[in-house]
Amino acid sequence: MSLTLTVDGDRWRAHLRAVAESNPGLTPVVKGNGYGFTLGRLARKAAWLGVDTIAVGTYDELPHVSSRFDGDLLVLTPWRPFGAALETDPALADRIVHTLGRVSDVSDLLARQPDARFVLERTTSMLRHGLSARDLWAASRVLHDQHPGARVEGIALHLPLAQGSHLSEVGRLMNDVVAAELPTRTIWVSHLTDAELAQLRASYADYDIRPRIGTGLWLGDRAALRVTATVLDVHEVERGDAFGYRGRTAPKSGHLLIVSGGTAHGIGLEAPTGDQSIKARAATLARGGLDAVGFVRSPFSIDGKQRLFAEPPHMQASMLFLPHGPRVPEVGEQVDVRVRYTATAFDRVVVS
Ligand SMILES: *Cc1c(COP(=O)(O)O)cnc(C)c1O
Repeated sequence: MSLTLTVDGDRWRAHLRAVAESNPGLTPVVKGNGYGFTLGRLARKAAWLGVDTIAVGTYDELPHVSSRFDGDLLVLTPWRPFGAALETDPALADRIVHTLGRVSDVSDLLARQPDARFVLERTTSMLRHGLSARDLWAASRVLHDQHPGARVEGIALHLPLAQGSHLSEVGRLMNDVVAAELPTRTIWVSHLTDAELAQLRASYADYDIRPRIGTGLWLGDRAALRVTATVLDVHEVERGDAFGYRGRTAPKSGHLLIVSGGTAHGIGLEAPTGDQSIKARAATLARGGLDAVGFVRSPFSIDGKQRLFAEPPHMQASMLFLPHGPRVPEVGEQVDVRVRYTATAFDRVVVS
């Protein structure tokens, strides 16, 4: 009945352990939809892994993880003197590690909470958040002159997804960090390969390098994961039969399959199939191809082949069109679904 993520538990846990063992100082990232697993489940798994810190994406995610993991909670969204950052549970104050990305926020946070724990983020070529080299130096002066007891927990670098080596960029950023003379020897990094991490550790042996990993940890062994929908209904149709919200007609005889999983789960339209030029469409039409009559590929596959949506997905279910020929699955059968895990809300996550 459900859109289900089934996890081969032994295989998944073995992968999680292997990533943790090869990444000393690992900080699991537990954010968004929990990479499909839910935040609560990942927080418990991080506790099972024995790490001392997890990273959440936003302040609003803290209540989902704080009772399931009792270590430190690094918030990746930079602190600002407004909004959710000012509305955290006081009971968590000593576990939260804020991210600061503006010099004014350093002063502002410490004026409100002198014992706040925080990392200073240095901007990277991502240009998302953080301090420039000059700002990092200015923040260091503010800390040195006005807040000598501040709890600086490290420097954060958020690198783009690898397009070649990160090492020359990281080398430049580390120069800025060293020059800023901050009272910390911890560097939190993302998206470095194992080889890049090893190189960084070798070059900066007096620094503690802490990788923040989400995708490579939770979703790093796709063979441990299977996503399935259930066939809920099967209707035989003849050419010309009307169906669906818009009274569309079947272009040929076949079957409508109603499967679980729709827009509420994040199931969306895939890119149109193949070449969409008029000539190509005419050729497909001549062959009787269904994409030419406006059917769009769905993420559901039956017997290894991706099938077409009969119409755009509904909230909790999708309609597929199966022309005569392939085997028609039965009501109750499971079919495979290809999803973006970080954008899918599963009805169930079953870990064996
Ligand atoms: C999301 C995020 C990560 C983890 O990214 P993955 O690609 O899921 O490993 C690390 N650092 C920051 C700042 C992030 O926002």
